[in-house]
Amino acid sequence: MVKIQMKTPLVEMDGDEMTRIIWDMIKKNLLLPYIDLKTEYYDLGLVKRDETDDQITVDAAEAVKKYGVGVKCATITPNAQRVEEYKLKRMYKSPNGTIRAILDGTVFRTPITLDCVKPTVRTWVKPITIARHAYGDIYKCTEYRVPTAGKAEIKFTDKNGNVTFNETVFDFKCPGVLMGMYNKDDSIESFARACFEYALSTKQDLWFSTKDTISKKYDHTFKDIFQDIFDADYKERFEEAGITYFYTLIDDAVARVIRSEGGFIWACKNYDGDVMSDMVATAFGSLAMMTSVLVSPTGNYEYEAAHGTVTRHYYKHLEGEKTSTNSMATLFAWTGALRKRGQLDGIDELVKFADDMENAALNTIQQGYMTKDLAGICELSDVHVLGTEEFIVKIRETYDTMVG
Ligand code: NAP
Ligand code: MG
Repeated sequence: MVKIQMKTPLVEMDGDEMTRIIWDMIKKNLLLPYIDLKTEYYDLGLVKRDETDDQITVDAAEAVKKYGVGVKCATITPNAQRVEEYKLKRMYKSPNGTIRAILDGTVFRTPITLDCVKPTVRTWVKPITIARHAYGDIYKCTEYRVPTAGKAEIKFTDKNGNVTFNETVFDFKCPGVLMGMYNKDDSIESFARACFEYALSTKQDLWFSTKDTISKKYDHTFKDIFQDIFDADYKERFEEAGITYFYTLIDDAVARVIRSEGGFIWACKNYDGDVMSDMVATAFGSLAMMTSVLVSPTGNYEYEAAHGTVTRHYYKHLEGEKTSTNSMATLFAWTGALRKRGQLDGIDELVKFADDMENAALNTIQQGYMTKDLAGICELSDVHVLGTEEFIVKIRETYDTMVG
């Protein structure tokens, strides 16, 4: 059999624990037999990050900027316990945070849906993608637990030292709470562009919602920036693609999302996106079926699974116990990246391979072969629970039957 040839390499970022094991199994069983895989490999496993003082993470992010498409395995974000466990030189930052800061991206999360796993919301027949602005707001706020009566003020001093704003927030007569938060125009603009680009690349409508009626400066600025960028740069491209941009109040959006049939992107401010992505993931089934892609405003793409390194399963695996870890989200990270690479380089076979492999994986589950996490929520009557590698091997069988 002739293997599919690639032109530009894919940036491959390996990771930790159970997902590192799955990573290798996916490559060996589902990719290398069919593709002459061309990747630029970065080992983001904790050992290598420690060896390189985390420079490898920076290099990987730069490579994604250079080549445009990357695929990342889940990685450990070290805490005190991990510093001890891996004898680390220091407590490194989250690799995803580092990569996001370099690519200046927005995170899009989309559930992998199956006929046999019914969403909790009956009307949803297509996936809903949450686009979360991952910068600022309460995640970078300054808070104060007000202990006693007193006056809280907001003051702004411009770069020349002039106080251009000074207002009382509240005159406390008793203890209370206080918070100051911010965002930046350039970050909101990046967020908007990433959302418009992603809507175009996936040919889905884009919704955006804030509370601009109540927050007439803060949230209204988000609304205005989105609208200005849309009118200036995306209106015609959206018309050509047959998709729409739709702004509505967050409360209205929530009601419409629940009544919708899905199949659109919902852009959310940082906190809304945090909360809504968990709601959407749970209502569609499970975290193990959630894909994630980081899209930069200049059109770089980094694909990954939304879940972590599945530590609990890894320790079972190390003790020689059989595991049943779901590889769907990691496989879809690979197919997502390969499809994008194929589209950018004009390699139709690569795009077709990605589609076929995803269908093979979905059909495998539909035929009743799945990992333990799905067996619990699926509606089929004849269910076979497979081990981690057995499931991947079964996908290969399905693929060969379908395509071969
Ligand atoms: P996790 O790895 O997502 O796993 C939490 C639990 O969810 C698992 O114990 C398992 O439940 C279930 N689960 C998640 N993915 C699954 C899969 N593919 N198949 C079957 N079950 C799955 O989260 P965590 O245990 O909180 O974090 C572990 C490590 O991952 C941490 O070091 C953290 O820093 C890192 N992390 C990395 C990323 C990333 O790289 N993007 C994201 C999140 C966390 P049961 O045990 O009940 O089977
Ligand atoms: Mg959350």
